[in-house]
Amino acid sequence: MLILGDSMAKLYFFYGAMNSGKTTRILQCNYNYEEKGMRAVIMKPATDTKGDDKIVSRIGSSKKVDYLIKKDENIFDLIVEEFNHVDLILVDEAQFLTTRQVNQLMDIVIDLDIPVMCYGLRTDFKSNGFPGARRLLEIAHELTEIKSICECGKKAMFNVRLIDGKVVTEGESVAIDGEGEVTYTTACSRCFRMKTRHRFDHPETKYE
Ligand SMILES: [Zn+2]
Repeated sequence: MLILGDSMAKLYFFYGAMNSGKTTRILQCNYNYEEKGMRAVIMKPATDTKGDDKIVSRIGSSKKVDYLIKKDENIFDLIVEEFNHVDLILVDEAQFLTTRQVNQLMDIVIDLDIPVMCYGLRTDFKSNGFPGARRLLEIAHELTEIKSICECGKKAMFNVRLIDGKVVTEGESVAIDGEGEVTYTTACSRCFRMKTRHRFDHPETKYE
């Protein structure tokens, strides 16, 4: 299945804030491929515990993923060794991929000529880019923002973490929606700044 020569496939990154309908799009895309008799493989990094081995859209539909990607897994080798024929790779929660894994997806696109569509968040609740999202923003052929609306009517770009309904600005980057008392809401830049009470350039902001 190794196709050499001019690659037509591309690496896509569809990014948006939480609850922007990313998973719904994946399920729709998968359906469209299957309807044409083509094989789409749905993957997601195992670090996301939401729905375990399922992807769950906010409108209630769900599907078991074809593969959970482990932290140190080489996705290129995986596709070559474990999958016979693949027409499309769909990755949910792609922000949790490592930088290397995103690079491996790019190699899949180029060497195997398989399009890879990644869906995920751009930033965490502190407005810092997830490693996988950063790398995708750097190298993806096509970037598409999936837009959603802030309560004020502007475009929601940021994720705000709440614990017991109160906004928090400290904590680990990964805390999954629905676990314990952690919930999220989304906000435009101005509302994000108001809710987190931080100017973006703030003396206490720690840059990595
Ligand atoms: Zn707003």
